[in-house]
Amino acid sequence: MSKSSGSGTGKKGGSRPDAVIVGAGIIGCGIALALGRKGYEPLVVERSEDSGLGSTRLSTAVIRQRFGHATTVALALEGMRTWQRWGDFLNVDDSEGMASFKETGVAWLLPTDQADTSGISRMMAHVGAVTERVKPGQLADRFPTLQFPEEPGSIEAIVEPEAGYVDDPWLATHNLRVAAEAAGARFIFGTRVTEITNRFAAATGTARQVTGVVTDKGGAISSPVVVNAAGPASAGVNLLARCPLSLTTAPLRQQVLEGPAPAVSHARSATPVFADLTAGYYCRPDPARLRIGSIDPRDEVDFQSNPDKPDEVVSSSFRKAKLAAHSRRMPSGKMRSIQPLVGLYDVTVADWTPILDRTDLEGYFVAIGTSGAWFKGGPTIGFLMAELIDAIRSGGQDHDSSPVLIRLPITRNLIDMSFFSRLRRPHRTGGLL
Ligand SMILES: Cc1cc2nc3c(=O)[nH]c(=O)nc-3n(C[C@H](O)[C@H](O)[C@H](O)COP(=O)(O)OP(=O)(O)OC[C@H]3O[C@@H](n4cnc5c(N)ncnc54)[C@H](O)[C@@H]3O)c2cc1C
Repeated sequence: MSKSSGSGTGKKGGSRPDAVIVGAGIIGCGIALALGRKGYEPLVVERSEDSGLGSTRLSTAVIRQRFGHATTVALALEGMRTWQRWGDFLNVDDSEGMASFKETGVAWLLPTDQADTSGISRMMAHVGAVTERVKPGQLADRFPTLQFPEEPGSIEAIVEPEAGYVDDPWLATHNLRVAAEAAGARFIFGTRVTEITNRFAAATGTARQVTGVVTDKGGAISSPVVVNAAGPASAGVNLLARCPLSLTTAPLRQQVLEGPAPAVSHARSATPVFADLTAGYYCRPDPARLRIGSIDPRDEVDFQSNPDKPDEVVSSSFRKAKLAAHSRRMPSGKMRSIQPLVGLYDVTVADWTPILDRTDLEGYFVAIGTSGAWFKGGPTIGFLMAELIDAIRSGGQDHDSSPVLIRLPITRNLIDMSFFSRLRRPHRTGGLL
């Protein structure tokens, strides 16, 4: 990993940035690129020595569209279309190489009696996402590397044929960062934001507006816009701004198991990413790093008090349960050696849906609560945030009473940003499924 690709050497040579972005994960780098392309000169402040080392580094990076609401399907679809044309989208050379999208397809293995299966597929089709239904009797032919020992007729599959995974989420984030730098963004690494400053707004004398950040290097950086893209540290960063949200976010521990699985490579074309709702686990069939994890992250709910120091121990009950489910479903996918890993989701506790919004502190924005599902949407969330910030800052739009609407550039779906508001009633259809 490179430590820096030109940190602090932007075209303005250290002058006041138009926006400070806290965090250089997939979300912060996506926002930096989109703001840069809109003519802003953002500065990203990252406490680690490199981009993409937070939640993003451990992402399984599955790119799929099946969600319970048309808006999240639209966001995921635009994300997938972006990953499909990654090189053209970024239009830069990265000396580290380019991340690549592996179009394996994604199969959802579901109980046949699930009431909403047809409804979700119809809704997805309406948004433009392609799915195929594989009936119980066709499963064995369609997925020769998987076993279906259950009672005949009890399982079916919904396949997203164009979906898949990104092979290296760290590299993808690095690619975004290089493109952001080319668009005029600057990055400072190894620097923690310790305070978000504000003052009474001149116009009202009562409302507060953000004035910049203070870092652990002792410097104050003034800026009219600060964006919280701090991932699992997002709730703490809101407190640095003295701006907690009623829709709160919290770091949730996630366990995964990873390792090479040689047998997968022989049948790679036939093995999609699969999310097995009947057994409660998912599998990314990357032959070099097959990964299994929990499809229901509420399996072992384990919120962490300190996002800097999560409990790193993978429980033996998790390991046993997931390996048993995997060896039953995919006997040929046995990992040669197993690396247990722990990552953190930044969860919007009430509904598992991101909060992409302004706040009551003028100029302070949040792109948080990605809830374990939005690596796939990182570049698109960057675009949405840049449009939102610009509509509010330049256009003066009161987003709380008159929501900003944004047309997605590739799929042309229209996003009503009130869906991601901090003031929303929690969605019933949020979450991973
Ligand atoms: C195990 C696991 C599996 C996942 N699988 C998938 C998947 O299959 N598909 C999918 O789409 N998504 C998946 N996700 C979710 C996805 O990875 C996240 O939604 C996404 O990476 C969040 O990115 P982020 O930029 O918000 O957070 P992060 O990557 O955590 O970035 C935030 C950054 O902010 C920095 N920071 C925090 N506080 C400060 C501060 N005070 N000062 C300066 N810097 C600060 C941190 O160091 C960090 O680098 C998964 C996540 C995990 C953990």
